[in-house]
Amino acid sequence: MSEIRNSETSNVNNFVAKIVEEDLASGKIDKVITRFPPEPNGYLHVGHAKSICLNFGLAEKFNGECNLRFDDTNPEKESQEYIDAIKEDVTWLGFQWSGDVRFSSDYFDTLHDYAVHMIKAGTAYVCSLKPEESEEYKGDFNRPGKNSPYRDRSVEENLDLFARMKAGEFKDGEHALRAKIDMASGNMNLRDPIMYRIRHVEHHQTGDKWCIYPIYDFTHGQSDALEGITHSVCTLEFEDHRPLYDWYINNLPVPAKPQQYEFGRLSLNYTVTSKRKLKKLVDEKVVSGWDDPRMPTISGMRRRGFTPASIRNFCEMIGVSRSDGVVDIAMLEHALRSDLNNNAPRAMAVINPLKVVITNMADDHYEDITVESLPDSLIEATGDSLKRTVPFTKEIFIDQDDFKEEYSKKFKKKFCPGKRIRLRNGYVIEATDFIKNDAGEIIQVNATQITTVLGEDPADDVKPKGVVHWVSASHGIEAELRVYGRLLNHESPDRGGEDFMTHINPESLSVISAIVEPSLAQAAPESVFQFEREGYYVADRRDHAADKPVFNLTIGLREDKSLSQ
Ligand code: ATP
Ligand code: MG
Repeated sequence: MSEIRNSETSNVNNFVAKIVEEDLASGKIDKVITRFPPEPNGYLHVGHAKSICLNFGLAEKFNGECNLRFDDTNPEKESQEYIDAIKEDVTWLGFQWSGDVRFSSDYFDTLHDYAVHMIKAGTAYVCSLKPEESEEYKGDFNRPGKNSPYRDRSVEENLDLFARMKAGEFKDGEHALRAKIDMASGNMNLRDPIMYRIRHVEHHQTGDKWCIYPIYDFTHGQSDALEGITHSVCTLEFEDHRPLYDWYINNLPVPAKPQQYEFGRLSLNYTVTSKRKLKKLVDEKVVSGWDDPRMPTISGMRRRGFTPASIRNFCEMIGVSRSDGVVDIAMLEHALRSDLNNNAPRAMAVINPLKVVITNMADDHYEDITVESLPDSLIEATGDSLKRTVPFTKEIFIDQDDFKEEYSKKFKKKFCPGKRIRLRNGYVIEATDFIKNDAGEIIQVNATQITTVLGEDPADDVKPKGVVHWVSASHGIEAELRVYGRLLNHESPDRGGEDFMTHINPESLSVISAIVEPSLAQAAPESVFQFEREGYYVADRRDHAADKPVFNLTIGLREDKSLSQ
C-alpha cells in the first residue's frame, strides 16, 4: 500500500491556519472569511467532512465566518434533494454557516455583467467552433493550441452574439463565450477557457431565467470576491486552475481579491470518495440509498452510528497537508471506537440465545434490577449518571457460546455443569445440568441462584471466573440486527481507473436477530449503545420502533485485524 498516513498535525495547526494567523497578525485581513462550496449534485461524503472541518474550523478558531455556498452552475445534475441533504449534514456535524445559505446562482446577473465587461475590454469573445473542433484547436500538453478563427470578432459582434445567446436564439453548444488569454500557454486552463455555454435547462434556483450558464472557473473566484472570502481553500486538483482564478480576479471589477489555497484531498483505503461513484452505487441499487449505513456519505455514517465528534476527531487526527495521500480506514474506525467507548451507554443483547432456567426460584419471580448505563470513565469525568432497570426472572437467555457441556482449562471462564458464572449486573448462578434436542444441541441449561445480594460474592467463597451478559426470557424483546461489513473488499478499489464495481463485497450485510433488554426497544432512533461483549449498535434512524426494534452494527468492540490487512 502506498503512502498510508497515520498521523499529522492537528486540524487547526495546519498550514492554512498558519497563513490565516499571519494575515491577521500583519493586518492584511481584519477577519477570516472562508466558505464551503459544495456542488449540489450528490450527498456529501467523508472527504467533504475534511473540507468542512477545515473551512468551518478556521472560522471557529479565528472568530471569523464561514459561508455555505452551493456551487450550482450545472443545473442538469443538481437538485433540491441534494441541497437539503447537504445543509442537514453540515448542521449535524455541528457547524453553523454565516448568514443565509448562498448560491453561485445568486450572482448570475453580476457574472453576466462581468462577462459583458470583458467583451467590451476585448478580453472575451464568442466562439462558434463545434465542440470537436474546439478540442482540436486546444492542443495538448505537448502541442500548443491554435487561435480560434472567431477570436478576432469585433466587440460589437461579440456583444450582439452574447446577447442573442442569452436570449435563447441558439441551440446548446452552438456558441460559447471564451476568455481571450493565450492559446500557447503551458497551462491548459489559460488556453482561452470557456466562460459561458448554452444550456437550455431549468435551474433549481433561477427557473427558466437563463439558458446560458457560467463555467465553474468563471464563477468560483468571483463569487469568493463578492462574498469577501479571504482564504478560498480547495483541494489540490484546483492548483492548475489558480492562475485562471487570479486572472479573472485581476481582470474584472471585483470588490475584493481573495486568494486560493490548495490542500490534499482525503482518500481512504477500501472506500470510494467520489459523488459520481457513490451515485452509481445508489442508482444500481447496490445499496439502499445515499444514507445506507455502508456508504461513506455523511448521512450513511450518521445512520451507521458515527457521532459528529467521531468524524471531527478523525479530521483532526489526519490533519491537513499539501499533498494527497491515502489514509488507513482503521484510523476512522479508531476515532469512532474511542468516542463510543468513552460515551456510549451500555446495554445487554443476546445474539445466540440459550435458555437458562433458575430452578431454585419461584416461577413468577420478577425483579427490577437498577443498573448504571454509562461507562465508568464518563461518570468519573463528568459526574453524569444514567440509570435503567433490567428485569430479572426465573428464565433468562445467555449466549450459546458462554456455556460448555464440559469444563476445560481453555474455557475456564465459561459456564458448565458444576461451575459458576456471574450474571452481568446480577447474581452468581451455578449450572446443574442441561437438556439437548434430538439433533444433539443444547437447548436448556438448569442452574441455581447462589447469591441473592447484588455485587456480593458467594458465602462459600467459590468465586465465578467469568461474567456473562443476559436478558430475561419472558421480558426480552426480539430485535433485528443489521450487521455490516465492508462494502468494497479491495484496498484501492478504483486505483488506475479500475472499475470499483468489480470489488463489491457480496456479504456486506447480514440480517440476524437478537433478544434485547426491554429498555432498548424504547431507545430513541440514532442512539448508539455498547451491547456488552458484542459491539456498538445504533437504533436505526429510519426503521427502529418500540414494537419492532432495529439496530445497525456501528463497529465491533475491537479492531478486527483480518479486515485491515
Ligand atoms: P466529488 O469528486 O466527490 O464529486 P467534488 O470535489 O466534485 O467531489 P464538491 O461538491 O465540488 O465535490 O466539493 C465541495 C468542496 O469539498 C470542495 O472544496 C472540494 O475541494 C472539497 N472536497 C471534495 N472531496 C474532497 C475530499 N475527498 N477531501 C477533501 N476535500 C474534498
Ligand atoms: Mg466538484
